[in-house]
Amino acid sequence: MVDKDIVFTSNAVINSAGAYASELAKQVGVGKEYICLPFLGAYKKSYLTNKSPKRLIYPVPNPVNPFLGVHTTNTLYNEIKIGPTAFPVIGKEQYRVTDGFRLNELFEFILASKTLLKSDSVDLVSLAKEEGIKLFKKPLINRASKLTNSLSNNSSWKNHPSGIRAQIINTKSNSIEMDYSFPVTILMY
Ligand SMILES: Cc1cc2nc3c(=O)[nH]c(=O)nc-3n(C[C@H](O)[C@H](O)[C@H](O)COP(=O)(O)OP(=O)(O)OC[C@H]3O[C@@H](n4cnc5c(N)ncnc54)[C@H](O)[C@@H]3O)c2cc1C
Repeated sequence: MVDKDIVFTSNAVINSAGAYASELAKQVGVGKEYICLPFLGAYKKSYLTNKSPKRLIYPVPNPVNPFLGVHTTNTLYNEIKIGPTAFPVIGKEQYRVTDGFRLNELFEFILASKTLLKSDSVDLVSLAKEEGIKLFKKPLINRASKLTNSLSNNSSWKNHPSGIRAQIINTKSNSIEMDYSFPVTILMY
């Protein structure tokens, strides 16, 4: 990296800009085949009315989709949290389905969707159907209830702030990817 008279050198640079990592990579001319598909992770929470479950409960991973699946989390405030969903959205900061998005994010979403529709590794249509329904309270509670029978005691379910899972899509191999690296020399000014 060159800044005025100073040259910074490094064997490796870790780009950890989350949903913006693929954009940042392209600014230095690498990772042109990678785009980001944001997935909305919505949660519900309720007061833990009895002492069960005592610990976090996770489902067995789904071999078709790389997501963690709906799980339960006990918070520090005597609450139980259930979620997340993994619903594909257009905006990298679209924390609610009704939130807006940028035009370039729409183009990227269309490209990512087309790429995954060609993919053998992810069934995007079934995923969107399955996850979309879980944005509603009852289906989400029903899914979490498969993990533990103690959730029926909790009735005051409220929305908990959502997250966005920044999923990298490889448009060359038509696949979902986790981390990636480039053995290249880059000069940044
Ligand atoms: C709903 C949900 C549930 C999850 N559950 C789990 C789980 O149970 N287990 C698990 O292991 N993982 C889970 N994850 C994934 C995990 O949260 C993320 O993988 C992790 O937070 C990613 O960390 P990061 O540092 O790469 O990105 P982020 O946490 O997104 O951080 C990126 C940072 O880069 C900054 N930034 C962006 N662009 C720029 C720029 N141009 N210049 C400077 N700064 C920039 C941003 O402001 C941000 O602070 C979940 C994610 C979601 C959304």
